[in-house]
Amino acid sequence: MPAPATAAAGALPPEVIIIGAGIAGMHQLYRLRELGLRVQVFEAGSDVGGTWYWNRYPGARFDSESWTYGYSFSPELLQEWEWPEHFSAQPDTLRYLNFVADKFDLRRDIRFNSRVTAASFDDATSHWTITLDNGEQARAPLLITALGPLSAYTLPNIPGRESFAGPAYHTARWPHEGVDLKGKRVGIIGTGATAIQTIQTIARDVGHLTVFQRTPNWAAPLHNRRITPEEQREIKASYAEIFERCRQTSTCFIHQTDPRSVFDVTPEEREAFWEKLYGEPGFGIWVGNFRDVLTDQAANDLASAYMARKIRERVKDPATAERLIPKNHGFGTRRLPLESGYYEVYNQDNVRLVDINDTPIERITPRGIQTSAEEHAFDLLIYATGFDGVTGPYDRMDIRGPGGRSLRQAWTGTPRTFLGMLAEGFPNMLMVLGPHTARGNIPRNIEEIVDWLTGLVAHMHKHGLARVEARPEAVEAWCQHVDKAAAGLLFSQVNSWQTGVNRNVEGRDIRRVLGYYGGAVDYRRRIEAVAANGYQEFLFN
Ligand code: NAP
Repeated sequence: MPAPATAAAGALPPEVIIIGAGIAGMHQLYRLRELGLRVQVFEAGSDVGGTWYWNRYPGARFDSESWTYGYSFSPELLQEWEWPEHFSAQPDTLRYLNFVADKFDLRRDIRFNSRVTAASFDDATSHWTITLDNGEQARAPLLITALGPLSAYTLPNIPGRESFAGPAYHTARWPHEGVDLKGKRVGIIGTGATAIQTIQTIARDVGHLTVFQRTPNWAAPLHNRRITPEEQREIKASYAEIFERCRQTSTCFIHQTDPRSVFDVTPEEREAFWEKLYGEPGFGIWVGNFRDVLTDQAANDLASAYMARKIRERVKDPATAERLIPKNHGFGTRRLPLESGYYEVYNQDNVRLVDINDTPIERITPRGIQTSAEEHAFDLLIYATGFDGVTGPYDRMDIRGPGGRSLRQAWTGTPRTFLGMLAEGFPNMLMVLGPHTARGNIPRNIEEIVDWLTGLVAHMHKHGLARVEARPEAVEAWCQHVDKAAAGLLFSQVNSWQTGVNRNVEGRDIRRVLGYYGGAVDYRRRIEAVAANGYQEFLFN
């Protein structure tokens, strides 16, 4: 008989179990406590923070404006906390999340170092039982998954990986004590948002850096700087307007899409607009661009040509510049990395770009990396090779619904959900940021989903309902709508974690729709309508 994983002898069992103590799990705990419920959170890490707990690689920081990223639910918290920079660095963000955990005394309901490996639903009692990696179990009527869409990191499927004699780190498991890279010969695989932040940060310290690139990504300047005392006062005085503005955009960032088409303006006006966006902080150039840049190939081609010119201006060696210009996808059709001096790194003598399309990696050796052309010797390897996005964290647990039905199997082709919050056929399991939810400025999305789920839980308690699941016809209609919303977008035709492709994971070579792309405003309208109409799309008992 496994030991119970919750509370001391005599304490009442939890009414809700939450998996994950990142931004989502922390907020969900806070909200359910407000309802007076007993909640137990299980967290794999040794402390709060989720993404910001795990991703401690050099240069990790926000691409969202810090003052749009924090929790909005507590006016007091908003006034107490001061972001040092417009785009917060990971140590400050983790400090913030610890500050929140302390302020609201969240840790007393969180069990750390407790990775949930399995969850199974008992049809007779309508309870979930979760199992931890040490075999302990806990039981509750409701299970809420707050796993994070980017928590299942993936290592490259290159032969010989274990044979490398030196240290090798995935960026999502960077040692807490840091790593001394001074003077070292470092190899890094990957050129996504994580790699770009890492590369631009470590290039000045390492002895030599070799970047192994499979697919270049379009990247634009972040333009980060410290927040002045005057700006700090202004920010604190205008939080209500800031969050209201985020509510009005389709991505929950402060940047609003320009209503004009690329073709509504003259080439000179277009150039001037792009120059302005390129010179401004944040994601404006991506989500505040002309309305057709991400939907119309001809418009996108013009934007890509502009960005390619910028790369050519910044990288001295023309051959290297060409290698850094994406050829297989247009600007903004993958999540845009923001950078601070990334391209200039390639002008340094101690940095080399290896395009593995020209010289493929054959294997990892005890000394380093063997390509078809040569063996590169390293003291240290960095894998900035990304994540099995969105569904990966679910796949890594053995989740069983009624009759032992496996979620992993149910989602083999594509996930099936209602509103991205309930998986078809898995009662009493509520997901924060599961597949098919609107995603952009993540904490803004999280707060809306957490509040909506809290409303659903409150509804169940008020009416004495023990079991909830989405009606099959509601799931079908939602899935069709999700597919339709993604269909017209250029990004849907491109491989990335957002379209569910990860060549390091078996079976992840087919594109799927993993988000809701009808925009956050529309998503909010739809979920609010479901609640306002008394949750008719659900079966309760
Ligand atoms: P990613 O965008 O998926 O990039 C992974 C990189 O590794 C890609 O360049 C990929 O190449 C390469 N790669 C993977 N397996 C490989 C292999 N076997 N051989 C060679 N190359 C391989 O992952 P990420 O950079 O960690 O970013 C993921 C997401 O995290 C971002 O899109 C963003 O949403 C989030 N993020 C946010 C921030 C922020 O807020 N500031 C910072 C970092 C990340 P291919 O492209 O060819 O597959």
